[in-house]
Amino acid sequence: MDETLDIQAVLEAAIAEGRQVLYEGNVADYIPELAKAAPGSLGGCLIKPDGTVYAAGDYDIPFTMQSISKTFSLILALQTAGFNRVFSKVGMEPTGDRFDSILQLELKDWHPFNPMINAGAIVVSSCIRAKDPFDEFLKLVRKLCANDSISMNERVYYSEKQSGTRNRAIAYILMNDHILDGEWEDVEDILDLYFRMCSVMVTAKDLAHYAMVLANDGIDPTTGEQIVTPDIVRVVKTLMLLCGMYDESGEYAVKVGLPSKSGVGGGICAVAPNGMGIGVFGPKLNKKGNSVGGEKVIQYLSSHLGLHMLSDGKPYKSIAF
Ligand code: GLN
Repeated sequence: MDETLDIQAVLEAAIAEGRQVLYEGNVADYIPELAKAAPGSLGGCLIKPDGTVYAAGDYDIPFTMQSISKTFSLILALQTAGFNRVFSKVGMEPTGDRFDSILQLELKDWHPFNPMINAGAIVVSSCIRAKDPFDEFLKLVRKLCANDSISMNERVYYSEKQSGTRNRAIAYILMNDHILDGEWEDVEDILDLYFRMCSVMVTAKDLAHYAMVLANDGIDPTTGEQIVTPDIVRVVKTLMLLCGMYDESGEYAVKVGLPSKSGVGGGICAVAPNGMGIGVFGPKLNKKGNSVGGEKVIQYLSSHLGLHMLSDGKPYKSIAF
């Protein structure tokens, strides 16, 4: 990346650009508590490996990470159960179906296609080996985001636990087909863990720090600590690139070219090839369930800072705008 670029100015311009498309999206309401988010919010944060933080807009508003939790739970499952065990239960293939689809479990394969869709993440949750899996999850999130005050939003958790009939249906199909792993007594306990993990609150700044650690092969460059092994980080980043934006992952890869993960709370984290981490938040979502303003912000950053992982590192004028 060109070091003379004014990253703060580019980020502010990206947020202004993102605001222009907010009218195209809607706040998620299928989990009733999520509908209370302020629809006009939009913010972003970018952290360089030397610790320099660039932030603009609503970068410090907490929101529930929702599907972004799927990357953390995958890390925890790989750390505690191992690669072979986890991928004997879930695939590594992108799917063209919605994130909460049941279709493929019946029509294509009993195993969920990948860990980034709901069915896959429920299986991955069942693979986690720990006495108190949620406690281990929270510890990992706090460490990777460098924020010890991260906690769960009880209201969102209860709201999803009460309304999450589709996820419940998925989990019961998976149980019926013997795909779930571990010594769980009750499938409801796996769902409870999944709902809790989705309800952990972060800010765009927390996500930027997390993405920066992933961008540095699992080392937090601000402390030097290796938090996740490079092997696990490589697996997680590859799946983020291929499947992290659900059935929009291909188009997003063409336009943005960064391993990323979104959630219906409106967050997206994106891993830049030069060791930078990006986090954005905007609760208005497009039809695929991805933050409409957030995607625009990251797309703008990718082209103006030259971050597309398959480009030459120079700013480019996107033909996709
Ligand atoms: N908790 C949400 C669900 O299971 C997460 C989905 C998402 O962020 N796409 O429906």
